[in-house]
Formats: sequence, structure tokens, C-alpha cells
Amino acid sequence: CGIIGYTGPLEAKEVLLNGLSGLEYRGYDSAGIAYFDGESKLRLIKKKGKVAVLKEAVSGDRETSHCGIGHTRWATHGGVTDENAHPHRQGGVTLIHNGIIENYHKLTADYGLEGLLRSQTDSEVAAGVLNVFYERFGNDPLIAIRHFVRELKGSYAFCILFDDRPGEIYAVRSVSPLVAAYTPSGAMAASDLTALIPYTKEYFVVPENHIVRLTPYKIRVYDMEYNRVEPEMLAVSWNV
Ligand code: GLU
Repeated sequence: CGIIGYTGPLEAKEVLLNGLSGLEYRGYDSAGIAYFDGESKLRLIKKKGKVAVLKEAVSGDRETSHCGIGHTRWATHGGVTDENAHPHRQGGVTLIHNGIIENYHKLTADYGLEGLLRSQTDSEVAAGVLNVFYERFGNDPLIAIRHFVRELKGSYAFCILFDDRPGEIYAVRSVSPLVAAYTPSGAMAASDLTALIPYTKEYFVVPENHIVRLTPYKIRVYDMEYNRVEPEMLAVSWNV
């Protein structure tokens, strides 16, 4: 339902939790974040219920964080449980998803994921498929994501972290909304412009079937032939 990704010099946990609070008006049933800690180890915390419950769960964590993703879920496949909340993790791949993967039963069988899944969601199946391609293509994110999205039927916006790429966020979408911005305080992506407005007045709509890579220093957009594309920058047209 709501997505936010952030990499940069600010405390990522705070940026993500504030962003999720700002997306609460859309309605949701669970919330979660994943981020790289000071030692570049990935941490994942997710809870059914309000963002306040997640904030409470995260509050004991004294680790610094500079890159992460956050999600508020509106359950479509699988009940409202901690385990079904996003982010979902398979192998070295951690992702958040807005939308519906219609062919997730077939993908589960085709990629032998049955025994590996911890949730009942379509989204964790997507994480499993991407992990298969990431391993198959020598941990190359662009090649893996390209092959991954070819397998999907349905609607999606994903933000993705790879264990071996701390500081980087990858994003891709079809139908479901996603905007991104490079700001003076780092790079961000979100399902909704309202989450970016505190940080920037310039943003772009992630083009469908393109891959976006966010690092603290820049954002790059690639088409599915791995060519770099310049996104069309838009200005926020109201004052806040
Ligand atoms: N289909 C996914 C789920 O049920 C994502 C729902 C959403 O967009 O929040 O977990």
C-alpha cells in the first residue's frame, strides 16, 4: 500500500518511519522496515498493526542506519500477521511490494519455492524468484531484475535491497505508482509524492519497465536493455 526507500547521510530508520507515518492516511494493516546497520548487516523488523507499534519495536535498536526500505501493507494475499507483513526476504534479497502478483502459485512451483516460504503472500514468492535470478546471474542486479520482471503477471512497485550491496536500493514498477528524487539529503523513492515533499521540490515518476538504482550520491535509470535513460524531472507545484 505505501512504500518508501531512502539512502543517504540522514538516520535512515527515522526517515523511513516518518515517511510511513505520512503514508498512514491511505489505510493499511501492517508495517515494516529493513535497513543496513553500521556494520552493513541487514536488519528487518515488521509488525501487524499501526506504525506506532513498529516504532515501538524499533525504538530499542541503537544501531545507526543509512539505507533502507519501509512498507505499509494492505493485505490482498495472506492474512494480517507479522510474518505476512513486508519486507520479505529470500536468500540475499529483501523487498517491499505494492500490488498483486497474479501468477504466484505457478511461480512457486516453477522455481521450487514451496519449502522456502515463511509467509502466505504473493510478494514473498516474488522475492524468491528474484533471488533465484540474482544467484544465477552472478549477483548482477540489473540482469536479475530484468529476468525477474519478465516472469511476473500483475501489478507491482518494488524496492529491493541486496545483502551484498549495502547503500544501494533498486526499484522497478508496472501499474503501481512509484516516484523518486535525488535530494540534498540523499536519494529517495516512494509510492506517493507526499513522502518526498519534506525533502525535495523536484522528482520524477519512475517509468514503467525501467530499473532505478539509488545510491547516496545519485539515481540512475536504465531501460530493459541496460541503457541509461534520463528521467523527466517534474517540479512540485504547490507550496508546503
Ligand atoms: N499483495 C501484497 C500483499 O498482500 C501487497 C499488498 C499491498 O500492496 O500492500 O502482501
